[in-house]
Amino acid sequence: MTISIIGAGLGGLALARVLHLNGIDAVVYEREASRGARGQGGMLDVHSGTGQRALREAGLIDRFHAIARREGQDLRLLEPDGTLLLQEDTPDDAPADRPEVDRADLRDLLLDALPGHAVRWGHALEHAEDGLLRFADGSSASYGLLVGADGADSRVRPLLTDARPAHTGQNVVELGIPDVDRTRPDLAAMVGRGNYWVLGDGQSLSAQRNGDGRVRVYLGFRTAEDWFGTSGIPFDDPAAARARLIELFAGWDPRFTALIAACDDTVLPRPITTLPVGLTWPSRPDVTLLGDAAHLMPPVGQGANMALLDGALLGLALAAHPDDLPAAVKEYEREMFERAGAAGRQSARVQEILMAPDAGRRMLAFFQPG
Ligand SMILES: Cc1cc2nc3c(=O)[nH]c(=O)nc-3n(C[C@H](O)[C@H](O)[C@H](O)COP(=O)(O)OP(=O)(O)OC[C@H]3O[C@@H](n4cnc5c(N)ncnc54)[C@H](O)[C@@H]3O)c2cc1C
Repeated sequence: MTISIIGAGLGGLALARVLHLNGIDAVVYEREASRGARGQGGMLDVHSGTGQRALREAGLIDRFHAIARREGQDLRLLEPDGTLLLQEDTPDDAPADRPEVDRADLRDLLLDALPGHAVRWGHALEHAEDGLLRFADGSSASYGLLVGADGADSRVRPLLTDARPAHTGQNVVELGIPDVDRTRPDLAAMVGRGNYWVLGDGQSLSAQRNGDGRVRVYLGFRTAEDWFGTSGIPFDDPAAARARLIELFAGWDPRFTALIAACDDTVLPRPITTLPVGLTWPSRPDVTLLGDAAHLMPPVGQGANMALLDGALLGLALAAHPDDLPAAVKEYEREMFERAGAAGRQSARVQEILMAPDAGRRMLAFFQPG
């Protein structure tokens, strides 16, 4: 039976790798033209109990530790007036509970561990039905088991559920400072080696050092779905967009607006959408979902970890029941629904804190309960 995986993101690749380790062939169809066709975004923290567990099952944990940045676990938490609430610096001998890794490096690690023919690049799925996949370039292919690992806007999901991602009431603008050590050593020192969070009332600024020397800056706003249209941020004019964003942070410590002013011309609007927490569907023998396609949650550190573990656990279930794939799918879904539901509830709670009045103090209490 042909196992077809739609999407060469972290979840789809983890599945393909675990199947490959178990001698099971699968085909991954990916809409991008090649592995380098699109920037893969910033750093991910990979947790010991989930993402790292998946990489262990995939036989890649040693190679992961070789590319992970333990010091990326550092955290600074501040208030808009500049008050430092928390500073956690990772000692050299600290356990690598949640080291940071560049998303592109992690994806390359998984891709390099698959045979070259496992991923068919340039295959954007348009439609799937009755064992047939139709792609945007007019080609088609048959499947026995179809796995939708195609992210937030999954084309596979409608085969299983009518649920759609909905706006959370939060919008994010992503910016970045390239080569920060050389261009702005003062800001490099301020942000430090890991994550830098400034939390205000319904508004936030976070900065994160990446492995390539870039600092990614995320500006969060508790605003409505149509806000990118009404905010007056001219996304097609980066310098004017930065000026408008600085206006929106009026009253914040000037060190924070200096971070925005130092950014380059990448200014990306990112509306934050999620699927309903605890989403399930009646199991079907020939189709399932993993990762964001199954349980899109706010970007607060769980999504990539869940996607990796989904892929690994589905691979192990299929390897354990090679003659009864529908039973394997059911077994995988039972565990995934429960685990992803719990992660979704926790992510929603963190998201609510991030956007609350007095978010800084509430986040401090989250990190240091009691
Ligand atoms: C700004 C931001 C920061 C984040 N930070 C973190 C973090 O620190 N830690 C964490 O755990 N999570 C984080 N996340 C969440 C994480 O990125 C996702 O949960 C994770 O990437 C999901 O993996 P996936 O494999 O399910 O989907 P994706 O990574 O979205 O991969 C889906 C793949 O499918 C392909 N595809 C889509 N449609 C089609 C189609 N029709 N045909 C063929 N191919 C298709 C896409 O091109 C893509 O390669 C963050 C998210 C954002 C937006």
